Amino acid sequence: MIRMVDLKTQYEHIREEIDRSVLDVIASTEYINGSAVKKFQAELEAYQQVAHVVPCANGTDALQIAMMALGLKPGDEVIVPAFTYVATAEVIALLGLKPVMVDVDQDTFNISLELTEAAITPRTKAIVPVHLFGQSADMEPLLALAKRHNLFVIEDNAQATGADYIFSDGTRKKVGSIGHVGCTSFFPSKNLGCYGDGGAMTTNDDDLAQRLRMVANHGQNKLYHHAVVGVNSRLDSIQAAILSVKLKRLDQYNAARRRAADYYDAAFAGMPQLKTPVRAANATHVFHQYTLVLREGDRDALKQYLAEREIPAMIYYPIPLYKQEAFAAYWPGGELPVTEALCRSVISLPMHSELDTAQLDQIIGAVKAFFG
Ligand SMILES: *Cc1c(COP(=O)(O)O)cnc(C)c1O
Repeated sequence: MIRMVDLKTQYEHIREEIDRSVLDVIASTEYINGSAVKKFQAELEAYQQVAHVVPCANGTDALQIAMMALGLKPGDEVIVPAFTYVATAEVIALLGLKPVMVDVDQDTFNISLELTEAAITPRTKAIVPVHLFGQSADMEPLLALAKRHNLFVIEDNAQATGADYIFSDGTRKKVGSIGHVGCTSFFPSKNLGCYGDGGAMTTNDDDLAQRLRMVANHGQNKLYHHAVVGVNSRLDSIQAAILSVKLKRLDQYNAARRRAADYYDAAFAGMPQLKTPVRAANATHVFHQYTLVLREGDRDALKQYLAEREIPAMIYYPIPLYKQEAFAAYWPGGELPVTEALCRSVISLPMHSELDTAQLDQIIGAVKAFFG
């Protein structure tokens, strides 16, 4: 059976180790902030090569806590790409900040540097690059721009855990460890996913790490002393134990995703109707999604055609953020042409660590048959 994300087959391969880890937590009764959480935190710090990982309940909370801990205040402007998942902009609006939506690059689907620069005003306080579909935004010029304007860089790394960004001097860094703070999600379908909700923030700034921990824990700086109004956002021990098992295999899982993407790319190479994902020279793509742009043909008809052959496909994302009813107040003025075109023409094919050649051939055959 072909699934968008095959968590079942993945689980079957690691079942013994997962089950044992979960049962160990249950027997330990350390359900909240237990040793499994501290263990995973240290493992992720080593993997990400960051000084601090602050676990929390989900990726949306991670973004919210980051913005609270950075001291962003109502009226402050935060620049985000218009082509992303709603969570990125949602927390900004929720905190009374103003999401300023800018268009994206047509090849990488990531935030446009030129348009980010053009959107900066005296009220701008932060930029949130999203490493969409598993590929890093172009961080080096973005960091330089942020530095020139004294802005925070909050990476939305929900879709790209394990991806590298390569600086012009050859230095490689894990995405999420490049800006002032990185925010990630362990939602089950993400590249590093648990079996429920989970998230984390990453930073190299000791003071910021302390504030992130405080905000995530009811604004508490000492037991029953609350310095700021915070939230309650925790990664539970069972999820942390599962994440420890899966983190060991993350590079292998991401390599399997890349192999599947290579296979798709080769099969679609001669087709003028399709644009396959563009891989930036300065990033390693971890293919959270394998997203095609249709140059011709009806995207929704292709999705329907595949569905009739029991092949799932998804549209990430069908509507620009500013056209969502909830975000009408943040309309950037005029349509953003790249975001509009992508919302009309993208389609994501099944992509996960367990895809085999027979499944890939079936998917590719159906896409080719659609175009005749
Ligand atoms: C999944 C996702 C989030 C939110 O993560 P949750 O854990 O579901 O709250 C935020 N941003 C992006 C780009 C995402 O894909």
